[in-house]
Amino acid sequence: MRFEPVIGLEVHAQLKTQTKIFCGCSTAFGAPPNTHVCPVCLGMPGVLPVLNKGVVEYAMKMALATNCRVEGTSRFARKNYFYPDLPKGYQISQYELPIARHGYVNITLSDGSVKRIGITRIHMEEDAGKLIHDPDRPVSYVDYNRTGVPLIEIVSEPDIGSPEEAGAYLRQLRAILRYLDISDGNMEEGSFRCDANVSVRPEGGEEFGIRTELKNLNSFRFVEKALAYEIDRQIAAIQEDEQVIQETRLWDPEKSITVSMRGKEEAHDYRYFPDPDLVPLVIERDWIKAVEKGLPELPDQRRERFIRDFGLPEYDAGVLTASKEFADYFEDCAARIGNPKTASNWMMSELMGLLNSRGLAVTDSPISAQRLAGLIRLIEDGVITGKIAKTVFDEMADSEKEAKAIVEEKGLVQVSDESELETIIDRILENHPDEVEKYRAGKNKLFGFFVGQVMKETKGKANPQVVNRILKEKLEKS
Ligand code: ADP
Ligand code: MG
Ligand code: ZN
Repeated sequence: MRFEPVIGLEVHAQLKTQTKIFCGCSTAFGAPPNTHVCPVCLGMPGVLPVLNKGVVEYAMKMALATNCRVEGTSRFARKNYFYPDLPKGYQISQYELPIARHGYVNITLSDGSVKRIGITRIHMEEDAGKLIHDPDRPVSYVDYNRTGVPLIEIVSEPDIGSPEEAGAYLRQLRAILRYLDISDGNMEEGSFRCDANVSVRPEGGEEFGIRTELKNLNSFRFVEKALAYEIDRQIAAIQEDEQVIQETRLWDPEKSITVSMRGKEEAHDYRYFPDPDLVPLVIERDWIKAVEKGLPELPDQRRERFIRDFGLPEYDAGVLTASKEFADYFEDCAARIGNPKTASNWMMSELMGLLNSRGLAVTDSPISAQRLAGLIRLIEDGVITGKIAKTVFDEMADSEKEAKAIVEEKGLVQVSDESELETIIDRILENHPDEVEKYRAGKNKLFGFFVGQVMKETKGKANPQVVNRILKEKLEKS
């Protein structure tokens, strides 16, 4: 029997508001421990939370950007549990009345197909503090700077059908958050976290299987690897007539396996109830409309525009718009050159290669969009060949110089002069009579050999179009 996975993701994103969700403390990351705290976020007796309007606005932005319905009335609830990073003994979250429901995002898969993933709900909540465990002594420290930092939780429908789709969905959510500029979306730093629910069922089945929930997934790669492992584990269990049990499992990145953390019977009973310190949140239509009007261009819209206005293939447009900064770079570069596709090619190969090899973000690129455009213009104007351009690019990566200056300094200007090339070609043909004969006898593949010889003679500087034309003429006439 063949099985198929069913996956639903719960994503937490930290919001980039200046201050916390229920007090005026700063949300800035990296401050000395317990310096961004006050009686409210420390859970002192008698204090009262005051909702940060900016958090509601950010949550609404995400809701509208993911096609959710923003609820006119929602409510905060207390989620009760004990843990040292939670000074109040409860987390303020939303439960039965979240701020938004019934949305979706579209993801593009590697075969180019598009799939819709439903979003069940989005709600707001506060983050907990951070425990720091001393590696040398049996002591733990707690930093409350993070308590009360705003989060949104985005819960998907169990519409995700493979680890690859899970990865694409997460990247899409992160891109939207970043386009909206409401979250850093950084998984490694914990500002974007994911719990993955997964079950398997006979292929094409109607009913869902028993699911497990995977935690400790702090990179996209781990999400995909943990899901793949868990799917195999569940299928193997069913095939051996064992029961999959509903439980929470932790991803162990060292061993690349999932291990049981707690079962259903140990599951928390959070005793949710409406928070009596906060009134129900009523959002007026006008506010929703204003936020909707103020939404920036989103990744899907930008991709469509890149296809429409720049004539880019869908694939290119998808890669370029996956990151806002990458798309900005492209637009900046494309505006300065003739053919936008050339900018796309250079960015997807050379530039990405350079950034990856140095572990840099495009915003820290050693070659700015303006300098790359300068290089591309030299190709477009016939000053240098594409081949030479690659060496100029490498040179630019390690200097501040413009492409033009490097080309002039090194004498890399393309040779398009017909008589000069003709002389070189005549000499090459003369020196290779056997090859010429074979070519004329029908061995067309040898054409490349001659082009190679010309390039060797000219150190890659010969204008390929002119070389091709002259070579054809000379070889054809016998
Ligand atoms: P909880 O709050 O206990 O985690 P939810 O009902 O909120 O439970 O579901 C959490 C996530 O689990 C959602 O993303 C949902 O799509 C997913 N999910 C629910 N049932 C299954 C299942 N059988 N297999 C895989 N995912 C599931
Ligand atoms: Mg859950
Ligand atoms: Zn505070």
